[in-house]
Amino acid sequence: MAEHASGTSARRVTAAQLLHCARTGLQGSNRAAFLVVALNRSDRLAALAQSVSARLMLSQISARIESVLRAEDRYAIASHDEVWVLLSGAASAGHAELAGGTLRAGLSRAYQVELAQQGQARMFCRPVIGGLSFVAAECPPELDLVAAATDACLRAACTDSQVQIDVARGKAARLDRARIEVELRAALKGNALEVHLQPQIDLIDGGCVGAEALVRWPHPEGGMIDPALIAEIAEQRGMIGDLTQFVLNTVLRHLMSWSALEIAPKVSINLSSVTLSDPTYPSFIRDALDTWGVAPDRLTFELTEGLIVRDETSAQHFMRELRDLGCRIALDDFGIGYTSFAYLRQFPLDELKIDQSFVRGVGTDRASRRIVQAQIDVAHAFELRALAEGVEDAQVVNWLRNARCDSAQGYHYARAMHPDAFLGWYRAFNRQDEAQPALVTR
Ligand code: C2E
Ligand code: MG
Ligand code: MG
Repeated sequence: MAEHASGTSARRVTAAQLLHCARTGLQGSNRAAFLVVALNRSDRLAALAQSVSARLMLSQISARIESVLRAEDRYAIASHDEVWVLLSGAASAGHAELAGGTLRAGLSRAYQVELAQQGQARMFCRPVIGGLSFVAAECPPELDLVAAATDACLRAACTDSQVQIDVARGKAARLDRARIEVELRAALKGNALEVHLQPQIDLIDGGCVGAEALVRWPHPEGGMIDPALIAEIAEQRGMIGDLTQFVLNTVLRHLMSWSALEIAPKVSINLSSVTLSDPTYPSFIRDALDTWGVAPDRLTFELTEGLIVRDETSAQHFMRELRDLGCRIALDDFGIGYTSFAYLRQFPLDELKIDQSFVRGVGTDRASRRIVQAQIDVAHAFELRALAEGVEDAQVVNWLRNARCDSAQGYHYARAMHPDAFLGWYRAFNRQDEAQPALVTR
């Protein structure tokens, strides 16, 4: 069957319009990503670039891009061999990487084209994708954006996945990456990093049950440095072990100091792939729990689906060891790409954290509501708790309660805050003893 773009889509814009949209058309504090897709169309086709069939192939390329992008995303055919994409709602570099991988897979399938002399022929692209994930309100200038994504694209060509997404330095733009790397090492040694806590609310009884630990680095010149960038640099530069150790010890110190509370909060910690492949890490956690005298079930470890698929065997082994210790395990950013029912059966999980990109749409979008409801039902079918991330308003809270979601986290309740502030917030919130709103009809 003929494959071509169905008419002119609002998603396809000119390169200039796309850059303008990146600079001025994005909303608030959410993240977005700009991708440069080098198509690498087969040589033969490049030679025929002016022919009718080459144009036909471009229309097939457009159709495939259209089928991957969301309504709010934009793309531009920047040249006969390069496409630019603006992912308006890519909540993290990980989301952009997954979208890039899906785009690449779609574009790599063979194209049927009609050649003037030889008739039907199969053509190929070997796409390489580079991108920059940035906070929407802090989009770099146009030229910097294109240069950064092009640079990532060049490096992507040397990777197995052929997709490389970098994280913009945001307000720390004045600091170059090399300096951040050097200073991060010193900051880790000198205790200049902080761990902030974002409350997690039980939607059934309305109380705050715990928090997620998120790293913060208030840099004297660069403002608050993006945590995703800290984690990325720490992982690439062999500092992730020290970072995780710092977060773990800070969290355990607070958990110990709160153990006299009648109902003490639980805390979850994000793990990275490097930690997952370190066989000594579970015993390190056990020693840390012993040192601080904290009950293991007050600690949850968050792993993303992407981390698990990188090395399923080590991940499974690692998770079983954490479980044997008595700690809880949550699957973070659930649903953004690798979800397989096999994982839910195979891995010892306690909680699914439904990714904020789905939760955000619940207030306005029927498809998002269906997806989130299905995710909650899947969690319950596997006897796991469902936690919705990125809850930003009361309407979403009501809908989630009605959908039987177990817990929620998001700006509607609070942003991540310093642990001392968190304790006061936790006490005040749980004292409110608020009557739960009646279930609303969907
Ligand atoms: P994550 O683990 O999925 O953390 C949730 C992110 O969503 C946090 O961003 C949080 O501030 C943000 N968030 C929470 N509620 C809302 C909301 O209602 N609306 C919006 N728009 N965003 C919300 P943050 O702190 O910037 O962290 C980003 C990512 O950096 C984290 O994603 C995690 O992958 C990584 N990260 C943060 N701290 C650590 C750490 O200590 N270790 C490791 N390995 N990674 C970390
Ligand atoms: Mg997390
Ligand atoms: Mg998450």
